[in-house]
This record gives sequence, C-alpha cells and structure tokens, in this order.
Amino acid sequence: MTRLTEDLVQDQLRKVKFPGYSRDIISFGLLKEIKIDASDLLVRLSVATNNPSVPEALKRDSEAVLRSIPGVKSIKVVIDITNPPETSAGLQSAATTISGVKHVIAVASGKGGVGKSTVSANLASAMQQLGTSTGLCDCDIYGPSISLMFGAMHERPMATSDNVIIPIERYGIKFISMGSLLDDATPAILRGPMVTRATQQFLRQVDWSGLDCLILDLPPGTGDIQLTVVQTVALSGAIIVTTPQEVALIDARKAGSMFEKVNVPVLGIIENMSYFISPSDSKRYDIFGSGGGAREAARLRVPLLGEVPIDIKLRESGDKGCPIVFDEPNNPASKAFLKIADQLRKNL
Ligand code: ADP
Repeated sequence: MTRLTEDLVQDQLRKVKFPGYSRDIISFGLLKEIKIDASDLLVRLSVATNNPSVPEALKRDSEAVLRSIPGVKSIKVVIDITNPPETSAGLQSAATTISGVKHVIAVASGKGGVGKSTVSANLASAMQQLGTSTGLCDCDIYGPSISLMFGAMHERPMATSDNVIIPIERYGIKFISMGSLLDDATPAILRGPMVTRATQQFLRQVDWSGLDCLILDLPPGTGDIQLTVVQTVALSGAIIVTTPQEVALIDARKAGSMFEKVNVPVLGIIENMSYFISPSDSKRYDIFGSGGGAREAARLRVPLLGEVPIDIKLRESGDKGCPIVFDEPNNPASKAFLKIADQLRKNL
C-alpha cells in the first residue's frame, strides 16, 4: 500500500490550479501545513481574497485530489482567509503601485492574434495624443511586438549605474519590450522563473516616473505572466481585446473572469477586426460575424469601449513602426482608437 507522506500530498495538491489561473496552488505558496496522523490527513491553505467562491473552489478541488490517494481515511482541508487591503484584492494584495505612475491598465486577450498589441500600441498613442502622458510595457515576453510597432527593433534601452533601466521613447511614449533586447531571430528561451523575473524587472526596475498612465500589453491567455503582473502591481483596471467570432469570445470570457476573480475591474471590451469597409464599393463586410464584443460586454456588465475595423493601413503602420494614430489620424481605425482613449481618460 502507498505510504501517506507529505511529498505525496504535495504532489496531489500540485494538480489544483488557483481559480481562473493555470498556475498551481503549491507554486503560488498557498500551502501552510500538512498534518498526517496514520491515515488521517489535515491540510491547511491560506489565501488573501474577499471573493467567497475562491476558498470554496480551493477546498472542493483539494479534497477531490486528496481523495484519490489510496488508503486515506479522513481528509480535512482548512482554508485560512486573510482580508486583502481595500484598494486591491486576492492576489493583488501584495501588489504595489509603480512610483511616479498614476494608473496602470492591463490590456489582455484570451487568444493570440486578435490584435491585442496593435490595440495596446495605438491606445497608448491615442492617449498620448490627447494629452495623457502614457507609457507601454510589453509583458509579452515570449512574443514581443511593441518594439517593432514603434520602429525600435534594434535600439537597446540604457541603464543607470544603479541598474535602473531607462525606457526607449518614440512619439513621446516611453516603452520597454523584450523585442529590443533580443535579435530578430533569437527566441526568448526562458524557463518559468526567468520569465517571472523579466516581468518583474520590466515593472519594477524601469524608470516609469512621470506617467499618467502605463499600459501593460499582456500575453494572450491566463498564465504565469498574468499572475506575476497581478501580484506585482496594483492595477487600475483591465481591458479585454477580442475579435467578434465565438472561438475568440470563449477565451476572452476566461480572461475577463480571471480579472474578476482577483477583483481587478474590467474597464471594458474592445472589439478588433469588427468589420471591413471595401475600398472599391464602400460596402461593409462583417468578416468575423458581428455583435460578439457587444454581447460579451453585456454579459460581463462592462462597456464596449469601441469597435476597430479591419484596415490594411493599420497592419502596414504596425509593420513599418509608426502607430496609425500618428501615421494617419483621420483613418477610421485611428478615429476608433481616439474615441476609446477619450472614454478611458474620462473613466480614469
Ligand atoms: P496579438 O497581440 O493579439 O497577437 P497583433 O496586434 O500582433 O495581435 O496583431 C496580429 C496581426 O494582425 C498584426 O500583423 C497586426 O498588424 C494585424 N492586425 C491587428 N488588428 C488589425 C486590424 N484591425 N486590421 C488589420 N490588421 C490588423
């Protein structure tokens, strides 16, 4: 018969994910105590949250995995709940503000390729154009696009003698991106802890002072980097980018509920690639369907911040390193971004 040991119990608990995240509760440090008395087991977890569904899910999922250990007679899972501070909750309880930055906004998506970086770059540009001094932190460590979108692929950021990184600046926007630190063909081959460190360095070791707003371009999904971000900085809110079709919306929903679970307000949804106006006949084509973003916004009870059309110029401006908001301010996509930025400024 398998002997009941602490290692065995920990291995089982490693299968339990923090609600809404892909990271397990052991690596997140929730386990406080394991007590084994012959075939009786007591496990104590501690979590900082004011969302009652979190401890419920942790208890249910932990009991389920522990029950599958052969020979265990009784299982007791105790969850100690600590109250997070008023301004932030759950995982955000240890997060702090970034010195010299008034608001930090995360731009997230469920799926890759929906235009999250394009939206981040142009939203930052539109905010800056409207007079809100804005920076951009590319937290997509494995798939960075921001340095390309600002035409700074080969510009390395400088550091001061006491290791403070000076962000790169284009069009008045300060930004940092892994794309500036690697060669074009070099992939970011990093293990989990190194990615966590890189993310923390981008947030903590860069001189972001003097900003009204810092936009974080998160990688797609709900993984380690998102978790590091919510643990490291107090967020004013999150914006979810999606395209209108169902496959993208399903994942956008997951991204939205991840922020809900850690009590970060979702400021709204931006629907990208909403429609295409044909240059030949000015007819509108809903290539990916229509109304998906609005339906999702209604479901989450958050505003639909805007609908950005599919536009060849938008793609071209991203590739050539000049956000369309600066390149062609009268383009319909630029107007959509400026409208979103205006709303966002008012909300903040
Ligand atoms: P993500 O960050 O979600 O992976 P990107 O912002 O990198 O997506 O966009 C993926 C590709 O789609 C890029 O080439 C970008 O220029 C293009 N793209 C994004 N949004 C639009 C749009 N509304 N119209 C045309 N091309 C777009």
